[in-house]
This record gives sequence, C-alpha cells and structure tokens, in this order.
Amino acid sequence: MGKDKTRKTVYTFGDKKAEGDAGMKNLLGGKGANLAEMNLIGVPVPAGFTITTEVCTDYNALGREKVVEMIRPEVEAAVKYVEKIMGSKFGDKNDPLLLSVRSGSRASMPGMMDTVLNLGLNDEAVLGIAKKSGNERFAWDSYRRFIQMFGDVVLGMKPDSKEDIDPFEEIMDTMKEEKGFELDTDFAADDLKEMVKRFKVAVKEKTGHDFPTDPWEQLWGSVMAVFDSWMNERAVYYRMLNHIPHEWGTAINVQAMVYGNMGLNSGTGVAFTRDAGTGEDLFNGEYLIDAQGEDVVAGVRTPLQITKEGAQRWAVLANVPESDRVAKFPSLEEAMPKIYNELLETQQKLEDHYHDMQDVEFTIQDGKLWMLQTRGGKRTGAAMVKIAMDMLKQGMITEKEAILRCEPIKLDELLHPIFDPEAITAAKVLAKGLPASPGAATGQIVFFADTADEWAKKGHKVILVRIETSPEDLKGMNVSEGILTARGGMTSHAAVVARGMGKCCVSGAGSLKIDYKARTLTIDGVKHKEGDWISLNGTTGEVYDGKIGTKDAELSGDFADLMKLSDKYSRMLVRTNADTPNDSTVAREFGAQGIGLCRTEHMFFEGDRIRIMRQMIMANDEAGRREALEKLLPIQRADFEGIFEAMQDLPVTVRLLDPPLHEFVPHEEANQKQTADDMGISVEAVKQKIADLEEVNPMLGHRGCRLGNTYPEISEMQARAIIEAALNLKKKGIKTFPEIMIPLTGTPEEMKMQELLVRNTIATVFKERNDKIDFMVGTMLEIPRAALVADKIAESAEFFSFGTNDLTQMTFGYSRDDAGKFLPVYLEKGILEHDPFQVLDQVGVGELMKIGIERGRSARPGLKVGICGEHGGEPSSVEFCHTLGMNYVSCSPYRVPIARLAAAQAVLKEEAAADKSKKKKTEDKSKKKKSKDKSKKEKTKAKSKKDEGKGKKSAKKKK
Ligand code: ADP
Ligand code: MG
Ligand code: MG
Repeated sequence: MGKDKTRKTVYTFGDKKAEGDAGMKNLLGGKGANLAEMNLIGVPVPAGFTITTEVCTDYNALGREKVVEMIRPEVEAAVKYVEKIMGSKFGDKNDPLLLSVRSGSRASMPGMMDTVLNLGLNDEAVLGIAKKSGNERFAWDSYRRFIQMFGDVVLGMKPDSKEDIDPFEEIMDTMKEEKGFELDTDFAADDLKEMVKRFKVAVKEKTGHDFPTDPWEQLWGSVMAVFDSWMNERAVYYRMLNHIPHEWGTAINVQAMVYGNMGLNSGTGVAFTRDAGTGEDLFNGEYLIDAQGEDVVAGVRTPLQITKEGAQRWAVLANVPESDRVAKFPSLEEAMPKIYNELLETQQKLEDHYHDMQDVEFTIQDGKLWMLQTRGGKRTGAAMVKIAMDMLKQGMITEKEAILRCEPIKLDELLHPIFDPEAITAAKVLAKGLPASPGAATGQIVFFADTADEWAKKGHKVILVRIETSPEDLKGMNVSEGILTARGGMTSHAAVVARGMGKCCVSGAGSLKIDYKARTLTIDGVKHKEGDWISLNGTTGEVYDGKIGTKDAELSGDFADLMKLSDKYSRMLVRTNADTPNDSTVAREFGAQGIGLCRTEHMFFEGDRIRIMRQMIMANDEAGRREALEKLLPIQRADFEGIFEAMQDLPVTVRLLDPPLHEFVPHEEANQKQTADDMGISVEAVKQKIADLEEVNPMLGHRGCRLGNTYPEISEMQARAIIEAALNLKKKGIKTFPEIMIPLTGTPEEMKMQELLVRNTIATVFKERNDKIDFMVGTMLEIPRAALVADKIAESAEFFSFGTNDLTQMTFGYSRDDAGKFLPVYLEKGILEHDPFQVLDQVGVGELMKIGIERGRSARPGLKVGICGEHGGEPSSVEFCHTLGMNYVSCSPYRVPIARLAAAQAVLKEEAAADKSKKKKTEDKSKKKKSKDKSKKEKTKAKSKKDEGKGKKSAKKKK
C-alpha cells in the first residue's frame, strides 16, 4: 500500500484517447471507466484524468499528507496533459483552465457523494475568463457557483440537517427578494459580483479563513474532500443498505470544465436512450438553456423536453396548448436542431456500443455538444423486461444475455396490481409503514376479520386494518384487497401471510391509532371510520386517503417470453406453496410445475371447520378425537380434490398437520363459549383445557410429527383424505401425484413410525376401493439433527424438502417471532449481513443442507430434493439450491416467476464460471502440457442429474 513505486494511480483521457477503458470499473469507478471508454469510441468528452479507487483506500489508511506526496507527480503530469489538449493553463490569470472534481465508485451511489465545478477561479482568474469569453455574466456566475460548491463540499458549510439553511442559498434568496427576481438567471453580472462578495464574507464568518485563492490548494482540498465523502454518514448508510463493501473506495475524476452557462446558445441536460419507466424504445430527456451542472435535476427552473414527441406528450399531461408549448416550452429538437441531431446520433452510438439502455449527461457550450457521463440506466421492472426482450429481438444481445440482464427480484413489480399512474399523482399520503408485501390496493376500512368476510360477501372491496394480525384473521385477510397494520415488521404474521397470498400489505405504520371499540382509525388527529376508503401501496409502504383506481398485472407478451426463455435454460423446476385451489390456479398461471408445500392446517381455519378442529383438540381421549376427525375427513377430502384438480398432471406435496395445537384454540370469550356449547361442556372446562395446552416453547413443543406419533389418528385421517381424493379424481380421468410429507422429523424412528402408519392407511384404502395410484412418502428436513442422520431417514423417506424457515430458526437458535428485537440491530452493526429468514445462510444452514443431501442420496441414490421455505423464492438462495443439485424449489405463487428466472441465471452463471476455469486450465495446460481436465468431467456429471420423474414437463431439459 502506497509503497509500490511502480503502481499507476492516475489514468488520463481526452481527445479520443484514454489510458483506461470500460472494463476497469473496479479501479476507475463506473464514471471514470466510461469517460475513458467514450473517448475511445470517439464521443466528445472534455479531457481529464481519474485517480484510482486504490488511492482512496490508501487515503483512509495513511491520511492526507502521505497520499498527496504519493500521487502529486502523476497528478501534476496529468494536469499538464489536460492543459495541452484544452489549450489553456491551470492557474493562469488570462486564460485559466478550470476543472471539475467528481466522485465515482464502482457501484453507482446516486447523490451520495460530492462534486465541485469551476475549480481554479479566484478574483483574478474570473476577470481573465470574463475577458476571454466576452461574457462577464457567465464568468461571475461560474465563480459564485464555485464558491458555493467548494464552501459546501470542502469547507464543510453544507448544513447537517434539513432544518438548517445552506448559507449560500440564504444569501441568494435574500438577494432575489431585494431585487424582486424569481430565477437565478435574472441576476446580471453586477448582481453576481455582489453575490460573490457576500459569499466570501459568509465563508470568512463560518470558517474563520479567507476563501482559498490558490488553484492547487483548491484542487487538493477538493480531491481530499471527495475521498472524505466516501466515509460520510449517508454514503456509509447507503452502502450498508445496498451491501456495497466499504473497502471498494471511490475514484476521483478531474476534468476540464465545459460551460452550459455561457448564454442562450449553451445548456445542459440528462437523457435516457429508452424510456426508463416503460421500456419503450424512445430517446427522451430534459434540458435547460444557460445552465450548469445539476440545475436540471435540482429543479431551479422547469426543465424542457429534449425531443419534440416528448414535449408534446408532456404538454398533454400539463394541459399546455400546442401554440404555448412551441413558444414557451420548445424541445431541444426544435430549439437547437443541429445539436439535437448530434445528440441523437451520440446516444444511439452509446447504446449500440454498450448494448444496454444508457443514462447520459451532456452539456452544450456555445453550440458545441460535450458528453459528461454515461451509465446503464436505472429502470422499473416493466422497463427491464421490455428492454431486454426488445434488444434480443433487435439482435443487440443474446438469449443468455437477455436472461442475465433481468434482475429476478424486480419482476415482483410486474406481478401485482398497480395504481393507475395518473390517479396516483393527485392522491394524498396519510401515513407510511413498511412495504411488507408489494402491490396496490384500494378498499373500505374494516377492523375485524368477520366484518371483512361479511362485507366481501356482499361484494365490497375492503382493507383489513389491524393493530397486528393473528392466525384467527386469516380468512379476513384472504378476502381483503390489502392489509394494513400499526405494529409488526417485515416478518410479522401479517407480512408473511400477505406475501404468501400475494396480497398487498403495509405493516408497522406507527402513526396509526386504532380504536377497535369505536371502529375508528386516527392518523394525525384525523378520524377515519369503518367503511371509509383508503389505498395502500405495498411496494413503497405508503397509505393514501380515498379510493384510487388500480390496474391488473400484465403477464403476457415480453414477460411470458422471458419466462419461456428462462425455462429453456434452467435445470431446477419451480413449484409453489399453495393451500387452496385458488392459490394453485394463480401459481399455475405463473408457471408453477407442482405444489411443493400444501399446508393442511390452513384449511382448518376456514368457516365452521375451526369449530370441529377445536372439538378435536379439546377432546379428552382418542375416541373423542376420532369423532371430530370423522367430521373433518370429508371436508379435507373435498379440499384436496379441489387442489389436485387445479394441479392435475403435476405433483402435489401435502404436509401433514404441523403447528402446535394451541394455535387453534379459541382465545376470545365468545369463541370459548361457542366451543363449550359445541362440546356440551362448561366454559370453565374449555378454559382449563386451553391452559393445559399452553406451552413454554411452542415452536419446540408438541407439533409436527410429534403430533402424528402421539395422536396417530390425525395422520391416519389425513392420509386417507389425500388418497381418497386422488382416487375420486382418477375415476373422473384426472391424473394426480400426491406426495405425503411428514413434518419436523429429527430421528429416523419417528419418520419410520409415520411412514408405516401412512402406508398402512393407504393400503387399507386401496383395498376398500379396489383401486390404486402412485404416491410418495417423504419428509420435511427442518431440524439440524435430521440433516446429520439423513442417510438413516432416507431409508423411509422417498423425498426431502428443506423447510428452511424452521431449519434457520433452529440452526441459529433465533426464534423467528422474537427476532425483531435483535435482528435489526445485528444487521445495522454488521454482525449479520442479511436477515437469515429472507436470504438463506449458505455458510451455516447451507452446510447442513449440503450434508443432508449428500447423506440422503448416499442411502437412496436419486433421492428427490427440494426446498419449501420462504427462501425458495429468493434469487441468491435459488442459485445456491441449484449448486446443491436440488430438483426443485418451491415458493409462494407470486414468487414463482422470480424463481424461474433465478433458476435459469444459476445455470448461466455456472456455465460462465466453468468456461472461465476451463480457459484458465487450458492456459495452465499449454504451459505445462499437463494431463486431463478433471473438473470439466465432474461438471458434466453434475449436470446430468435427472429431473423429477413426474409431471408433464419432466421430459423437458436437455443440456
Ligand atoms: P453525480 O455523480 O452526482 O451525477 P457528477 O460528477 O456527474 O455528479 O457531476 C454533477 C454535475 O456536474 C453533472 O450534471 C455533471 O454533468 C456536471 N459536470 C461534471 N463535470 C463537469 C464538467 N467538467 N463540465 C461541465 N459540467 C460538469
Ligand atoms: Mg449529484
Ligand atoms: Mg452525474
């Protein structure tokens, strides 16, 4: 570090030459690498140089003096290089070269770090500039901008909080008031001179020093300040949120200034080569005449549209008649046709070169166009898909590139209803909570699940508003358009259940005051009654007043094409977690190839079933339980028939009853009374029974296969319901593939016992019906011990499905329901990089999975393995499951497309890695003339892994 004399720390660019290129983002940052690249492809870019990210790391370790000493010779040489190209001299009185100092890290961190423009100005240089340009106003406007930016960025005069006013803004506002001006362009040269004077006074007052006049002092100060900005609070926070390592550091770009503030023949703007909102292949952007730097985005004046078409579209929305538009809001295309054509060509050249939608910055100096930045443009999920598929059709990218170009998680935006874009602009935000489950919802406020159900039956659209939700609210949640809670985080009951249902949810909106008795919701002192309309945006967490129109998700066209393409390349199948025929149908539309987890307990909450269920739980003996189970059997069988039918021809994994029984018991007085009546016992007896069922650690208590082994009649009834349903459908010519899954096994013995019970029951049913079908019995792998003894368990399990929610819970020893107290702190302090309940912990939990699969397949080769925890729809976890050689992942219906894309990407990334190592191997081989490429052989072996034997798609996939 810093000692290596030969290491290059500065890379120059200019005049269509450059020492760096686009491939050097790590060293030069995104901005620097692309400035170099633009030079190389002949785009006009002001000359400059980039100080590498390594220097930033040195700066943080060694401090200012050492670093200046280290890079001074290279920086001085680079400034000379720029002087030569630009034909002016840094620090000269008559013809000074002015510079910009710009940050630029590997990953874009918009607005997080600082920029200084017009560097090199002082009381003498400003006169030189004025004389040379013949434009006094421009010279003084540049000077005041420089003092302002240097003061804010380098001298630390930028206010810390939003309440404080920037001292320079304050002076400008005062002067506008004094003069009766509206816009900063109203100031004349003399006003700007006065402004500079006042700015300098403010600097002296605030810092105790005069504004530095020496250009080199200005330059070094700015460079160090930009390095410092890498470590400023908001940049550190941004990196934490986006998982960007602090070690990366920022590069610094020092570049000759070009001036958009030279008058009416100058300007500056930003543009996109395609529409970042919709993906439409339409060049668009905004510009301002006689402006500099960030004036366009900062909103100092209303920017104008670049293209005529854009301007006309804008005018329609803004209600401006065409004649007015032409006179007052001309497009660049109309105002400066020559420059516009040049810009149009340049943007096309950039897009053709980068094969991606570009976001560009440009400046027009006295009729000449300069490009200042290009980068892959940020875009919405819809635009992401459209652009990738359009570029594929246009032959700009390959199929594999199109797949890799799309970020799986962003597909989410496309799968849920959205607000009508026009209606939302007029809507009023009432409160903000957590974006717990995406989508848009509008409906009438209800506070109770029962009310939701009643109202929904009458055809009302409702939003269920609760302090928090519990399993008892399930039915109400299911019929609501959306769910809003005052308490609870991203993994609260409301959030998890809503995501599973693909239902919009805003959780933890702390400013809500809910009065269940009065049935009112108060926000900021304003009361909303039951029946009032509100709207939720589950993607942003915003709560709106009133009714706002929504639009359904569009699943055809480009989206469908992308999905088809993904399936062509992926090896793993994607199934869904679904508990109802309706969920199953939705998931099938999203391309699910079976059900990986059907939770039978969810069926027990619906309608009158909970009453029978309660009788079963509260029964004192087996006979009592059997009586209740007898009543549940036909209900369950009908449920399974519905689900199997919706999933015909595809496998369905049904998990036997899993949760602790007390989750089903009545907690509310009225329900306790009802149970007492149903069972013909006293309310006291019911209460006593509830107390008996209470557990200290329910998640580690009487649940899973422990229920099935202590009360075998429950498993018996369920196995019977499943198989009878399948046989009933077989009669109708509908093919089913039931897979019965035993939950929570930890020892081979408890698995064996359940397996025998299930198989014996099924044998009985087959005999009774004199018919049979194919089925499987397997287990959920969710207890660490099960992974360790997986070989023994696999003797009685025909398949494994990793239940990574419980497996994570038990591997970490974190209770998912209590993790809210410490997980946020752990994430903030960097003890954990991700929430392990959202992103699979590959190192720990993943190791157990690896062991489980290896040992399981050692005892039963070809053992089918999948995952059914929340992680099954999280892209990095899906990729990991692929590397473990799983047959499928299963996730909630709305995550199915995300998982399909992630599964395809997993294959492509693996291929790329294999190609790379193959290349390296061949290089080594040619060097040493060594033996066979062994790793390649292993790769092919891993790839020939078989798909599931069932389902119509099983014949797909190749390789
Ligand atoms: P950010 O990363 O926040 O976009 P930039 O370094 O791109 O910061 O600079 C901020 C603004 O200053 C941009 O509008 C950019 O175009 C402008 N700018 C930067 N360097 C120059 C320059 N040499 N001449 C003219 N304008 C510049
Ligand atoms: Mg900026
Ligand atoms: Mg920029």
